[in-house]
Amino acid sequence: MYSFDYHQATSLDDAAQKLAADDEASLLAGGQTLIPTLKQRLAMPTTLVDISRIDALNFIRLEGDVLVIGAATCHATVATSQTCRDALPALASLANHIGDPAVRHRGTLGGSIANNDPSADYPAAALALGATIVTTQREIPADDFFTGLFETALEPGEILKEVRFPLPVRAAYSKFPNPASRYAMVGVFIAQTSAGPKVGVTGAGQEGVFRWRELEDALAQNWSTDALKGLSLAGDTMIADLHGDGDYRAHLVTVMAKRTLEAMG
Ligand SMILES: Cc1cc2nc3c(=O)[nH]c(=O)nc-3n(C[C@H](O)[C@H](O)[C@H](O)COP(=O)(O)OP(=O)(O)OC[C@H]3O[C@@H](n4cnc5c(N)ncnc54)[C@H](O)[C@@H]3O)c2cc1C
Repeated sequence: MYSFDYHQATSLDDAAQKLAADDEASLLAGGQTLIPTLKQRLAMPTTLVDISRIDALNFIRLEGDVLVIGAATCHATVATSQTCRDALPALASLANHIGDPAVRHRGTLGGSIANNDPSADYPAAALALGATIVTTQREIPADDFFTGLFETALEPGEILKEVRFPLPVRAAYSKFPNPASRYAMVGVFIAQTSAGPKVGVTGAGQEGVFRWRELEDALAQNWSTDALKGLSLAGDTMIADLHGDGDYRAHLVTVMAKRTLEAMG
């Protein structure tokens, strides 16, 4: 570690002001990604602006047919929230299978979405549910938010406030977890929405999370596991690493998609 200033923000305005005052400042949520990054000196911000105790970022509420979750809400809260379990059980279940208990009690929805790790779970749900990411400056559809590996549409100084998840007719998520980290080797979130079927795939794509539109089109014609027949993804567009090559991951996407559809009934 090296020295930096630490500021415990008391409100969103306070956090935004501190962020604007220092070009090298960084937001700190649960620190699950940022602290290891600092330890390795892959990032060296001069100021850390801690947003984890801002009440306005810690909530889960239902607004009509939209589930709204504050950015600093930790995964364990999402997993155990009765509001979330009743309205969107697939999201509560997803949160309940992130990492381990320590990660779930510190890691946050906003940190996960802002970090856009190619193997993170929430981005697949955000795409499949047609979520809207609300920041201090604007509202961004999930389809426009995730722009590449660890890249998002967030501009410097922009703070993610909440994520709005329209409730689907039904939805489910299946992931094949890496046995060590529990991150997705492949995760497939499928939602039957008012705009038709949507499929978000994480852990697999070289460009990060993506929608599998061929499967969406096939499901619109035939909502059953038969929709997967004849569909495949190209192995050379998939992540290849020591845990599995591209062809393995491409196959695993179809396996997890089938399991997700079976879970939806
Ligand atoms: C051992 C381990 C296992 C894990 N397993 C999984 C898993 O199975 N599935 C999964 O999806 N994830 C997994 N994670 C990731 C974890 O869930 C965290 O959500 C993720 O690391 C982000 O951490 P954080 O929320 O604490 O954000 P931080 O680490 O504090 O911040 C991450 C980045 O996001 C930025 N940021 C944070 N909040 C905001 C905001 N509101 N607005 C704008 N920018 C913001 C920060 O500036 C920083 O750049 C794992 C992590 C660990 C350490």
